[in-house]
Amino acid sequence: MKILCCPACRGDLSLEPVREDGREVLEGTLHCSKCKRSYPVRDGIPDLLLG
Ligand SMILES: [Zn+2]
Repeated sequence: MKILCCPACRGDLSLEPVREDGREVLEGTLHCSKCKRSYPVRDGIPDLLLG
């Protein structure tokens, strides 16, 4: 899965996997180191919508 940048501040996102299948992360959380937002990953798809 390609790691995108934070939609809020364009900062780097780090992925914290919860459930993996081989090399694919199915569930996890993307954390922004810059603005401290976090975004869920469900079914391998990052949900980067701003809440
Ligand atoms: Zn950010």
